[in-house]
Amino acid sequence: MALAVESWIAASGMPYALPNTKDFEDWHSSYIGNDTARPLVIARPRNGDDVSGIVKSCVQNSVDIVVRGGGHDLHGRFTAANAVSIDLRDLNTVIPSDGGKTVRIGGGSTARHILEELKLHNLQIPTGGCANVGINGWSLIGGYGPLTSSYGLGVDQIVGAKIVNAQGDIIDATEEMLTGMRGGGGNFGIVVELTSKAYPFHNLHAGQVAFQTSNLTQTLTKFFDGYYSWEQQFGPLPDEFWVQPLVWQPPGQNASLIANFVWNGEPSDESALWLNRTASLGTPVADPFITVKRESLLDYLIAFLLMLPAVGLGSTQTASLSSISGQGVASIVEMAAKLPADVTGGLGIHLLRQENPSFRHDIPSSVFPNREPHVMLEIMGMGIDATSAQHGTEWAIATRDQFLALPEHLDKTYPAMTDPSVSDPKKMYGDKYDQLMSLKKQFDPTNVFKHAVPKLGL
Ligand SMILES: Cc1cc2nc3c(=O)[nH]c(=O)nc-3n(C[C@H](O)[C@H](O)[C@H](O)COP(=O)(O)OP(=O)(O)OC[C@H]3O[C@@H](n4cnc5c(N)ncnc54)[C@H](O)[C@@H]3O)c2cc1C
Repeated sequence: MALAVESWIAASGMPYALPNTKDFEDWHSSYIGNDTARPLVIARPRNGDDVSGIVKSCVQNSVDIVVRGGGHDLHGRFTAANAVSIDLRDLNTVIPSDGGKTVRIGGGSTARHILEELKLHNLQIPTGGCANVGINGWSLIGGYGPLTSSYGLGVDQIVGAKIVNAQGDIIDATEEMLTGMRGGGGNFGIVVELTSKAYPFHNLHAGQVAFQTSNLTQTLTKFFDGYYSWEQQFGPLPDEFWVQPLVWQPPGQNASLIANFVWNGEPSDESALWLNRTASLGTPVADPFITVKRESLLDYLIAFLLMLPAVGLGSTQTASLSSISGQGVASIVEMAAKLPADVTGGLGIHLLRQENPSFRHDIPSSVFPNREPHVMLEIMGMGIDATSAQHGTEWAIATRDQFLALPEHLDKTYPAMTDPSVSDPKKMYGDKYDQLMSLKKQFDPTNVFKHAVPKLGL
């Protein structure tokens, strides 16, 4: 049956590649390396009609489909064995709409490409921390990032979508479908064009404050005690302010504390005040007014990208907490001390505050479950070869388990980063689970999108 689909793809004229060809190997490679499941064929649709044709042919011939957007799923779920890979990278249009209040984004567009294009129109959108992530994949599943405190999560940016549904038809997603798509990932269809909220372009006051970390316990305790006392001292923190503590071990060095700082606006007296407050949570190793500067969101993302290995061999895991207590700090210290010397990585700590626009009452309807202040931990254990990658994987899993054993852990872990081997949609979606499953049964009753993230299993 797969041959019938391959013949249809070949006859359509769209680019495609079969295993053991150079194109296949090039297109198959990804941020997490090449050692991922190998699909039957990789097809690169040129437009929605191509996507529709592949889905119809696959459904007719009972062949599985897997979707690749930006190819940055941390567990390689952009590919699957015995499936036709629909690689959306050529659907990368960026078209401002509704007088610049929204933007129509092709299904495979990356954050970097969108920010470059939107700058020409004096616009921008919120993104994740990595410039190469696909914005559809990021928004459909959650979407944490440096502008989250100002604009809310990626899911709440979704205004509309043109999708190829489970029957292979191109349709405008209904409000009910959009509810499922805001948090339910690619389970309801293949987005060929997403309509997202857009915002006026401006530069940020952004960069990193690295802290002296000769004593990790003291450094982290001072940071978190200070941070969690701010609401009492200063009242609600401003929406423009975002800080992401990062406990990071560069290759061959010890782990230290870095604060990623973003003020969503031009440098000002107020941004300087919050930068000073952030710097006072420890002892900076350099003048924060030099390391944090006026730059665009894209400049900030590209600078951050330089910290990451070009290929992320190893494993990224996640855990979520209600907040970071003394025990949480102790766990960070304990696990940072256990980082194997040949591993690059550590903990990216996403702090979601009470004032976040995604926790207000006027948010669009969604199945994204975590609508309360919380901490999302990105636990990165990466290496440069098989041995160091294995060490990184073991460390990341042990660290995840350590946090999941804390009393303040949340069952609602971030579906994008939750390891499929421990992923339990019922726990991850909590009180949104029944709604998610009922929408899935309504719009994809035969599970055409069975390889979507997260796997729901009907
Ligand atoms: C280095 C790195 C940093 C990251 N940082 C962050 C971060 O700061 N914040 C955060 O929230 N997440 C972050 N992530 C996770 C990332 O946002 C998610 O894994 C996201 O789903 C990746 O999207 P993608 O399109 O690049 O991935 P892909 O691997 O291409 O897609 C993953 C899945 O998304 C779905 N999908 C993608 N595009 C479409 C589409 N057009 N239509 C239907 N379904 C689609 C499919 O189910 C697909 O299998 C990071 C990941 C990496 C590797």
